[in-house]
Amino acid sequence: MVLLTLLVFCFVLSAAFDSHAAVASGETVRVGYYPLENYHAENENGEVEGYEADYLSRVSEITGWNIEYVRLASWEKGMEALRNGEIDLLSPSQFTTERDAEFLFSSLPLGKTYGAVMALNTNECIYEDFEAFSHMTFGVEKGSIHSETFAAYASEHQFTPDIMYYKDFESMVEALNAGEIDALVDNIMRTQKTMSLLGRFGTSQYYFMANKNDRVLMSGLNEAMYQIDVESPQFEQELRSRYFPVFDAEILTKEEIEFAQGMRELIVGCPVNTDPVSYLDKESGETAGITRDILDRVAANTGLKFKYEALPAGQVTYEDLRAKGVDLIACVEYNSVNAKSPGVHLSSPYFQAKKVVVCKKDTEFDTEKELTLAIVSGSQTLGTVLKNTYPSFHIVTYETPEQCLEAVKSGEADAMLHNQYSIDRLLQKPRYESLNALAAEGIGDAQSLSPVLYKSGNDTLDEDLSNPLLIKVINKGINNITEDEISKILIDQTTKRRYQFTLGDFIYRYQYMCMAVIAALAAAGCAAAYSMRIKKKNLEILRNSEKQLENITNNINGGVLILQPDRELHLLYANEGFWNLLEYDADRMKQPGQDNYVMYVHEDDKEQLAGLMEKADEGDAGSVSLRLRVRRRDGSYIPALFNGTLAADEQGLIKLYCVIMDISQEVAIQEQLKLEEQKHQLLIDKTEQIVYEIQFAQKEIKTSESFCRKFGWRLMQTYKRLDAAEILSIWRVHPEDQAAFTENFRKSLDGLEDTNITVRLMLADGRALWCSVSQFIMLDSEGNPLEILGLIRDVDRDMREKKNLAEKSRMDPLTGLYNKEAFRRESKEYLRQNLDEECAVLFVDLDHFKNINDLLGHMEGDKAIKDAAQTLKAIFSSQDVVGRFGGDEFCVLVKDITMEALTRKVEWLREKLRCIYSNGKYQVQITASIGVTTSMISGFDLGVLLEHADTALYRSKDAGRNCYTFYGTEE
Ligand code: GH3
Ligand code: MG
Repeated sequence: MVLLTLLVFCFVLSAAFDSHAAVASGETVRVGYYPLENYHAENENGEVEGYEADYLSRVSEITGWNIEYVRLASWEKGMEALRNGEIDLLSPSQFTTERDAEFLFSSLPLGKTYGAVMALNTNECIYEDFEAFSHMTFGVEKGSIHSETFAAYASEHQFTPDIMYYKDFESMVEALNAGEIDALVDNIMRTQKTMSLLGRFGTSQYYFMANKNDRVLMSGLNEAMYQIDVESPQFEQELRSRYFPVFDAEILTKEEIEFAQGMRELIVGCPVNTDPVSYLDKESGETAGITRDILDRVAANTGLKFKYEALPAGQVTYEDLRAKGVDLIACVEYNSVNAKSPGVHLSSPYFQAKKVVVCKKDTEFDTEKELTLAIVSGSQTLGTVLKNTYPSFHIVTYETPEQCLEAVKSGEADAMLHNQYSIDRLLQKPRYESLNALAAEGIGDAQSLSPVLYKSGNDTLDEDLSNPLLIKVINKGINNITEDEISKILIDQTTKRRYQFTLGDFIYRYQYMCMAVIAALAAAGCAAAYSMRIKKKNLEILRNSEKQLENITNNINGGVLILQPDRELHLLYANEGFWNLLEYDADRMKQPGQDNYVMYVHEDDKEQLAGLMEKADEGDAGSVSLRLRVRRRDGSYIPALFNGTLAADEQGLIKLYCVIMDISQEVAIQEQLKLEEQKHQLLIDKTEQIVYEIQFAQKEIKTSESFCRKFGWRLMQTYKRLDAAEILSIWRVHPEDQAAFTENFRKSLDGLEDTNITVRLMLADGRALWCSVSQFIMLDSEGNPLEILGLIRDVDRDMREKKNLAEKSRMDPLTGLYNKEAFRRESKEYLRQNLDEECAVLFVDLDHFKNINDLLGHMEGDKAIKDAAQTLKAIFSSQDVVGRFGGDEFCVLVKDITMEALTRKVEWLREKLRCIYSNGKYQVQITASIGVTTSMISGFDLGVLLEHADTALYRSKDAGRNCYTFYGTEE
């Protein structure tokens, strides 16, 4: 019997497990959610969005689960649903022993949170101003787990809070908006846009919860969460900064704000030998670069004032710094040696890049070898760090990175080590094309600020600069710089500046110059032919001409040739320039066997020349232009441009008159440019920002890969005209924004200025996305537009929130009716368009309303106002305009109504507004006085309508209240 019972029990048990046994890929997991903005909430398309949704979509990528969201009214309903098996998972759940007894918790938390003190943005209170906290009233939700931790926080910081308890979060927010409390205390995840953070306490973690029976599901979830934790340890941090940006914000305390404001203007010494990290701007003569842009943000974030001073190149002594009055040094390497140095007080790194090693293209960078490594002086602590890491290295220092590169080129050093951005810029120069950059593994390039702690070389500490508050404030300023701000600075200082150094211009210009010279030379060639022809007639002139020609040709930086158009192309004449080009003496031509041109041409290019001669045989004389490689004396080849004209001489013999130019420089520059463009494209494709470039000369538009990812459609790459009309026609802009978009684009094109606009761009699926479109226009040296660089940012979420807020600001927060301004606007708009429809305006004011406030309290007064608003809404149609004018006064614009219906409604309203409020001790009777006028009597001017309705209202008050009056019938 016992055995049987046991068997039955096992069966039941296994059946219970079986129903949840395998949560396989493709199976549906039901997740409960209730309104919690930014964590899990529905967007307008009905999809659940937010922190948890992103987290779960990652889980679903790993497990293959199909996540189905189940909407619930509240957290409590969520727990109930979990108990009843209506949902499988619920979060965010903080761990308590009671919950642990009833539910299963995930092993890892999916996030952390803390208790926050939040006030309205308009409140002037300062972060953690505990003195002020003692005089403030705080709202706390009844039974909230924050009430204990907040009490502990108060006692830790020695303030005695005045606390009011509320039944739920919404009523607490209402009280905050109404000014009943100064701040509220709740979970940071519930902050709203209108609130700012005043204090934080009680950090805790939160988890997923499942039903006790769902062990299999939970173990699958745990595995996925471990995997996320291992693969992307930053994932939580990323989600937090995406959905709860204030979470990690470092807010200045009162003490810190006062300290920053009272601090003198600080002089920041910047080394200026590392473009684009820190350099001297040629135009303004001021320091510029990534460092300065970031430090400007630090100043803006903290209220500190910075002035920048360039430091001399090379090793800088304390005396140099003091002579310049420097208070803070920028670009201090954030490394262990600096951190331990006396007299140095490192801030957090404000900029982190990588270091790269540069060596000759064919050299290997082997850290085991005894290499000589060049670094820029001024970072000699880096030398010490390197000595520790690579004891076999011999470190040499130079004042500038250029000098380091020269040392590598000349073989003085085997390699140099420097910041990636700076190297990237330097290696764009053709003179360094023989060098190669490699990532320096394990060596970062983090830069920080350090105050100059001592007043002079001696030991007197500078009081302001050695105050630990300074570094605290600076660090907060650094930590509050957003990723977006950094990436904008980087683009400004790298991608955008690439265009200001007009390499492209130079090449264009250079090619033009080449053409001009070639044309001049060809003309000279023709002149030569002409002079031959008149030789017979005038020997004197001929001699002169020949002399002149020789003068011209010998002064040309290139070869001038006259060739016999035979297979070998025998040289009939060659100027000195030609022989210089090939590095031979000019009398080489006289040596037997050296007088044909073809022998100097590269094997692979000879065919081209042969083709040219065949044409000549067919009598197809004319001009040709070829790119050929010609051999120099040392056997090396140089690229050359060969321009020739077939023309008959005075005896009617066809000859080839030509010029030949060395174009190795141009070829090198063009290759460099191509490489640079590839690098640039790579940079654009890898950035998350959406970038587009409109290049006028090439008639091309390039976009980053993220463009298509975001919008689902592509811009064409090449265009026929690419004029204003065509540029404007290619965008898919929301119809309502097209005019503004076009005007803004024209502003860029006509005014040649940088612009920014926020518009809706269309997605391929027909949805509209709010985007901020910034355009930077690049000009050539003559001020003509060369290209437009555009950045598109998805600001959809922000815009929709803003619109929501704007919508809310039209409403009276207490009743949800229109406020006075919105009432006027709506009514005016209606009256303007509907002059043929009769309408009426009502003023309603509650009678002796003050009594309710005095006897039953303000809250009950608010309730009465809300009730009256409800009554108005119920009686009038949703088409009518109902507003609260302030206090206990309401106004209604009744549309398209007959006198009879109006009178019925007004009487009904008077009746409905009569009611009694009581608190057990006092009873207050509320009635209303009403004034009415119609467009038939007062016309369609809103001002007049309101004035007449108001007059009628006062007649009602005078007549003893609780009644209505129609204007014009008072008597
Ligand atoms: P009367 O019959 O002459 O209208 O007398 P009354 O007491 O209603 O006075 P009146 O209309 O001039 O003033 C309305 C009062 O309503 C003034 C103010 O104390 C109170 N009040 C105004 N706004 C609010 C509010 O938002 N909530 C509450 N509870 N009271 C308000
Ligand atoms: Mg009143």
